[in-house]
Amino acid sequence: MSNAPARYAVVGNPIGHSKSPLIHSLFARQTGAEISYGKELVSEQDFAAFAETFFRNGGAGLNVTVPFKQRAFALCDRLRGNAARSGAVNTLYQSDGSLAGANTDGIGLVRDIRDNLAYGIRDRRILLLGAGGAVRGILPALENESPARMTVWNRTAERAAELARAFDGSLAAASLEALRGEQFDLIINGTSGSLQGHLPPVDAAWLAPGCCAYDMVYADEETVFLRWAREAGAGLASDGLGMLVEQAAESFHIWRGVRPDTGPVIQRLRTGL
Ligand code: NAP
Repeated sequence: MSNAPARYAVVGNPIGHSKSPLIHSLFARQTGAEISYGKELVSEQDFAAFAETFFRNGGAGLNVTVPFKQRAFALCDRLRGNAARSGAVNTLYQSDGSLAGANTDGIGLVRDIRDNLAYGIRDRRILLLGAGGAVRGILPALENESPARMTVWNRTAERAAELARAFDGSLAAASLEALRGEQFDLIINGTSGSLQGHLPPVDAAWLAPGCCAYDMVYADEETVFLRWAREAGAGLASDGLGMLVEQAAESFHIWRGVRPDTGPVIQRLRTGL
């Protein structure tokens, strides 16, 4: 039997910026696991062949990031937890000889907001900005927390309407006009413009007292959305670094059956190395 470390990787395009190898190496050190965890840049047309070869050659698990989460979903023989409802997979592994997939983004977001930030989600009025893969991926986990209601706004209105149809009964799509006069307890920015300094067309009147503003993006500096939220008087404003670490911890748990302690890892990433 080989003593080679179990092999994992994150696959995406682009991938250079990914912090996943660092996070998983910290988890491995903490739990005494012998693993290798790489970064794989793959072109759009090569994703399926890459995943197939990775597992055929004994790979233990893959994390999947933009733009492959829906493709990963389509490849799976079996789906775990929320993955079926979210239509996207960020964690791949072999189970009884078949390819299994999970989506840990939603539970990662919920654990960061509910547990790390101590901001309960139950009975809250939630506004989601954006209707891309990230927002679709987190909706089932948010639904499980029983918020009072969820509303989505998206630059391309039809995408928001489509998402609301897919989550009929728990999500409503709204235009900016329809949002006038509305208030929310939790506003989640799931648009990808933050890193380029694009602020979605937000309105300070949306912030209910003590409102939590959460940007799924993470960056060394405060994002435009978080600056807006702080200046507009949000009770709490957080980037998505905690979500990143929490979703990684859930993947690690699925793969290795051990749940790492995320607090020190978030702290380590916050303060740099
Ligand atoms: P995506 O599928 O490409 O969707 C992008 C979304 O952003 C769409 O709703 C798009 O609207 C909107 N958008 C882009 N530029 C905009 C602008 N200038 N103004 C307003 N809306 C704009 O991307 P995604 O996979 O959903 O990812 C979204 C973000 O979440 C990314 O920045 C990603 O890094 C982050 N994320 C973080 C984590 C974490 O662990 N922290 C996990 C997953 C994702 P249209 O439909 O109109 O194009």
